[in-house]
Amino acid sequence: MKYTEFEIISQYFHRDKKKYFNEIKGIGDDSALIKIPKNDILAISTDTLVEGTHFLKSISPTDLAYKTIAVNLSDLAAMGANPKWITLSITMPKSDSLWLQKFSNSFFKTLNKYNMRLIGGDTNCGPLSITLSVYGLIKKKTTLLRSNANIGDLIYVTGTLGESAAGLFLLKKKIFIKNSSIRNHLIKKHLNPIPRICEGRALGKIANAAIDISDGLVSDLGHILKSSQCGANINLNTLPISNILINNFQRKYCLDWALHAGEDYELCFTIPKKNIKKLNVIKKNFSVDFTCIGYITPIEHGFNLFRNKNKILFKKKGFNHFD
Ligand code: ADP
Ligand code: MG
Repeated sequence: MKYTEFEIISQYFHRDKKKYFNEIKGIGDDSALIKIPKNDILAISTDTLVEGTHFLKSISPTDLAYKTIAVNLSDLAAMGANPKWITLSITMPKSDSLWLQKFSNSFFKTLNKYNMRLIGGDTNCGPLSITLSVYGLIKKKTTLLRSNANIGDLIYVTGTLGESAAGLFLLKKKIFIKNSSIRNHLIKKHLNPIPRICEGRALGKIANAAIDISDGLVSDLGHILKSSQCGANINLNTLPISNILINNFQRKYCLDWALHAGEDYELCFTIPKKNIKKLNVIKKNFSVDFTCIGYITPIEHGFNLFRNKNKILFKKKGFNHFD
C-alpha cells in the first residue's frame, strides 16, 4: 500500500497525543514549542546517517532506528546532558509499510527507554537517510566541554574500545570468526551501541572535559587536546581492549581498532586528580568500567603514545568523511 507523506506522519510518527514535559506544541503545527525550565541550559545536537556511508544496505529497520537515536544521544552524553526531545527527518525511497512499522516501533521503544519525546520532523522521498536532532537539559555547573581539560588531569575511557570495528568488519565479511556467539556479540556492539547517558550525567559533577568516541580514540581525544590547548601521554598497555578481541584477533589489529576505528560511542573524559575518590564512588553505580589510560600534559609535550615505556610513532588517522 502506498501512503502520502501526511499518512506516514499520522500512522507511524504522530503516536503519542498526550502532552509531555514542558511541551506547549508537539507534532502538528509549523514548529514545536517547548518551555525551557528557568535554571537549565538547552543542549542541541544533530547527526545524519546516510545509507552506504553510515550504515550498510543490509541493516534492519529495527537496528537502524535504534542506532540513529543511540549515536545522537551519545553526543548529549558527552556534554553531561539529560535527553528530553527529538526531531526526525527521514528521507526514504518508497513508503514501505512493513519497513515503516518496524522502524517506528523500534524508534518509539528506544525513545521510551530514554524517556524522550518526538516533537516534530520532516518526511521526504529519496535515497535512504535519517537526520535526528536531540535536545537535552543541563545545568551550567555540570556541563562537560571539550575545552576544559587541565594539565595533570587523568584521562579515562568508559567500557572497551575496538569491538564495534570488529563487528563492522564481520558484517562486511572482511574478517571471519567461527564461534557464532562471539560473532553476534561483536556485530551487536556495532549495531546497538549504548549511549553513556547516565555515566555522562554523573561525570558532569567531577570531570573537566569529555567527548564521545565516534571517530576513534586518537582522533576524538585529539579534539579535546586541541580545544583545551594541551598535550597528552597515553599508555597503550592500559587501553581497555576486551578479552574477546585479544583472544580472537592479532594484537596489532586490536590496537589499531582501539586507537583509530570509531563507533564505540564510549566516553573519553579527563578528571583532576583530586576527584579520583569521587570517581571511584560513582563507578560503583555502573556496570561499565572506567579505565585510566593516561594524563594531560602541557601543549609543547605533544600527543604521545607509549608501549612498555617506549614511544610509539603513529599517524593521526581517524574516520574522516572527505578522505
Ligand atoms: P511543514 O510543511 O509546515 O514543514 P510538514 O507537513 O512537513 O510541515 O509536517 C507537519 C507536521 O508533522 C509538523 O509538526 C512536523 O514537525 C511533523 N513531522 C513531519 N515529518 C515528521 C516525522 N518524520 N516525524 C515526526 N514528525 C514529523
Ligand atoms: Mg509550515
